Amino acid sequence: MTQPNTNSLQNTVAHQQLLDYLASRADTMLQATRSLCEINSGSYNLDGIEQVQQQLQQLFAPLADSHRLQPLGPLERVTDSGDVEALPLAPMQIFQSRPAAPLQLLFTGHCDTVFPLSCDFQHCHIDGNRLHGPGTADMKGGLVLIAEVIRWLNQSGIREQVGFTVAISPDEEIGSPCSGPILMQLAKQALANASAIGMTYEPALEDGTLAGARKGSGNFAITAKGRSSHAGRAFFEGRNAVAAIAKVASQLANLSDEDSGLSLNIGQILGGGAVNIVPDSCICRFNVRVAEPQQQQQVLEDIHRVIDAVSQDTGVELALHGHFNRPPKPMTAAQQRLFEILREGGAELGLDIRWRATGGCCEGNNLAAAGLINIDTLGVRGANIHTDQEYACSDSFVERAALSIVLIQKLLKLQQEGQLPC
Ligand SMILES: [Zn+2]
Repeated sequence: MTQPNTNSLQNTVAHQQLLDYLASRADTMLQATRSLCEINSGSYNLDGIEQVQQQLQQLFAPLADSHRLQPLGPLERVTDSGDVEALPLAPMQIFQSRPAAPLQLLFTGHCDTVFPLSCDFQHCHIDGNRLHGPGTADMKGGLVLIAEVIRWLNQSGIREQVGFTVAISPDEEIGSPCSGPILMQLAKQALANASAIGMTYEPALEDGTLAGARKGSGNFAITAKGRSSHAGRAFFEGRNAVAAIAKVASQLANLSDEDSGLSLNIGQILGGGAVNIVPDSCICRFNVRVAEPQQQQQVLEDIHRVIDAVSQDTGVELALHGHFNRPPKPMTAAQQRLFEILREGGAELGLDIRWRATGGCCEGNNLAAAGLINIDTLGVRGANIHTDQEYACSDSFVERAALSIVLIQKLLKLQQEGQLPC
């Protein structure tokens, strides 16, 4: 006869109590998300971001011992005319409690969205189980989950064993160019004296699938300065910037290699005008994705080699701008173990947790580069992000908050047994 498993029975009762408690919070979570999403916070809308940050301040400040604003930027960007301009960015919000506790959690998320003030998608509506609206899934719903998880943690018996930092950035949707280095600093601080895990609240897919390994990414621009001349009277005295960029672009595109996961996407070429004038300026913008950290250096060397050769060949001055802002996040053994712990926690809640590799990237890449293992799609389930059909699944707020809480309980237990994979 099999013995009844008291542990799992106790777990089932505790998990049901947790789910009941969270169910009583569901409307509050949905309301808070809706309220955040009704304010436009496109990455360059500083007024909107400030308003969203005020709401986040009200949400998080009562849950944390300390809070501060970390100034960011300015952000350097190559304009369409080839000049480099400095764009102001909103600050990052950082909330902290119990930094000396043996287990440190670094919760991260972003309050910006991809939707500028000029687009039509500005408001929320509910359609059955779907909360439609800009940022409902990506990721204001996730920010509300972080607050809910901390609210539970602060009331729980494990409170004193678990410290946390919440970092909310305003520039994730443009690649975290200025918050990325701060995230890495925070990750290193969390790891300095304790066991630490990163928890980022990008949305899961609608069926609950999470992102596993992620590629690294960098955005670049090449500016070309040639010499203008008349195409008929003095063609050979000119130096054609558009022709030079065309050569560079085709050679860069050819560096892409499906087997190694390296891709160079030529996204935009701007230059030229009248066909009887040799154009003296042109810009090419492109994105590079890499699967492995060592590919970054190699592809940078290749890009410089192409630029130098074309510049010599054509007499056009070429300059490279930009850098890798997201290092790759490979599925290391420690990452794999963390996912398995989450899967065990999910199974206790009746959830079948799966993950798969993606070419997309997020703050989890930056945390991983600092040595902090993390799961970066702990947010609500949702779909159609970055489009005007974005929605979060309303029934996923309770489910995903419970998943994070069970994960934290398991992490603490493993930490106390000296079994954490970090
Ligand atoms: Zn996002």
